Amino acid sequence: MEDCLFCKIIRGEIPSTKVYEDNEILAFKDINPAAPIHILVIPKKHITSLAYLKKEDEILVGKIYSAINQIAEEQGVKEKGYRVIVNCGKDGGQEVMHLHFHLLAGKQFGEKIV
Ligand code: 5GP
Ligand code: ZN
Repeated sequence: MEDCLFCKIIRGEIPSTKVYEDNEILAFKDINPAAPIHILVIPKKHITSLAYLKKEDEILVGKIYSAINQIAEEQGVKEKGYRVIVNCGKDGGQEVMHLHFHLLAGKQFGEKIV
């Protein structure tokens, strides 16, 4: 059993405000939102980061993007737009070492990094 913050959220050992769940994916509100809508979308399977994806995870990542789009539609931001961010590793600013996709919306993002 993984001693990992997000695995504990998946197991219900740490409470979260869930917005989407299926057999493979969980999405919940970020505890420290950086935008009016800030949702974390994660695989239930523990994957440390984007850098540790395996070939067998390719389909799962596609499903995560489909879940993100469904959540965005449910949150009413499909047309206005949103930003999806994955921090990877130390230089990428990743703090929780369980792969997660930040879905950010509800404001216009001025800062263009890329
Ligand atoms: P990272 O910096 O690793 O890309 O993002 C980790 C995110 O997890 C941060 O945005 C942080 O606010 C969020 N976070 C950390 N601990 C918790 C928690 O216990 N519950 C929830 N819902 N979010 C958390
Ligand atoms: Zn984990």
